Amino acid sequence: MTAPQPVPAPNPLLSIRDLRTVFPTGAGVARAVDGLTLGVEPGETLGIVGESGSGKSVTALSILRLIRPPGRIEAGSSITFGGTDLATCDAESLRAIRGRRIGMVFQEPMTALNPVFTVGSQIAEVVRVHERTTRQAAWGRAVAMLEAVRIPASAERAHQYPHELSGGTRQRVMLAMALVMHPALLIADEPTTALDVTVQAQILALLAELQQSLGMAVLLITHDLAIIAAVASRVVVMYGGQAVEEAPVTELFAAAHHPYTEGLLRAVPRPRLPNSPAARLAEIPGSVPPATAWPAGCRFHDRCAFAWDRCRHEMPPLYAISATHASRCHLAAEPARRTAPAPTAGTPS
Ligand code: SF4
Repeated sequence: MTAPQPVPAPNPLLSIRDLRTVFPTGAGVARAVDGLTLGVEPGETLGIVGESGSGKSVTALSILRLIRPPGRIEAGSSITFGGTDLATCDAESLRAIRGRRIGMVFQEPMTALNPVFTVGSQIAEVVRVHERTTRQAAWGRAVAMLEAVRIPASAERAHQYPHELSGGTRQRVMLAMALVMHPALLIADEPTTALDVTVQAQILALLAELQQSLGMAVLLITHDLAIIAAVASRVVVMYGGQAVEEAPVTELFAAAHHPYTEGLLRAVPRPRLPNSPAARLAEIPGSVPPATAWPAGCRFHDRCAFAWDRCRHEMPPLYAISATHASRCHLAAEPARRTAPAPTAGTPS
């Protein structure tokens, strides 16, 4: 149980190796993503989960090389998609992949949609950027895609402007725009966070259905483990710019190994049985430290109830728990250190 290796993806569509994305700030260099390695296989849904500040959204932006200067991806990072290294390829190769082979959906559609163009023309424009085709054919594809994302009367709705649509419909338009080129990979960063619960469930069901029918892979980024449980097949838990646990979703929910993941799981609301008292949700004490000052050793040690000296000085590697499960926690090497669940941080070693 000491192999310091991440779980390998045997046949990845997207392969990220040692990704390091940094932002110089007045307080020092923020190492937002710090040595992340993961793979996404064709057709699978990989969830990345973590609190805000864990590095998950910067990971999404890095894959698409949308990091704004002075932020940058450090040399040595590699992001391979279909044989192209997105971290280093020229702008033309990147343009050919972004929007065509990799689609993207972000949390707030109003920031991604242009308020002065109809939604149909914005989707049709995506088609015309990537394919030589007539305006009429591109418009037809846009309307068909609006129908595919279950927008009723799609031919009429295509003529509407973003502000005329509800939040849920705007997110469906974003999905249509991301999927109109039938990408091999969709990156969805908190795609339902701004929506109410019912609409959120509808959009997630739609996403799962479209993934099946289009046969694409999805990289789903969220702070919400309940969404991961509903949609993803595999999950990477991020903390402090690193992957701290990776496993198939069922395995993670049945037997998480990292104390941070255990904390996230205790914070997931569960259905309440009639006449039973409401269960108290446990919060993880403290907050994610700033990326300019990650603590020495295990980055979670200030918040971990099991921390001992080794945790404060030695950064844990990703220990292989099984062929498909890894945890960045010294408890994998010293399980006797794990005592009865201790709900508060700061338990002495
Ligand atoms: Fe907690 Fe130590 Fe494991 Fe970090 S390495 S999660 S501090 S037990």
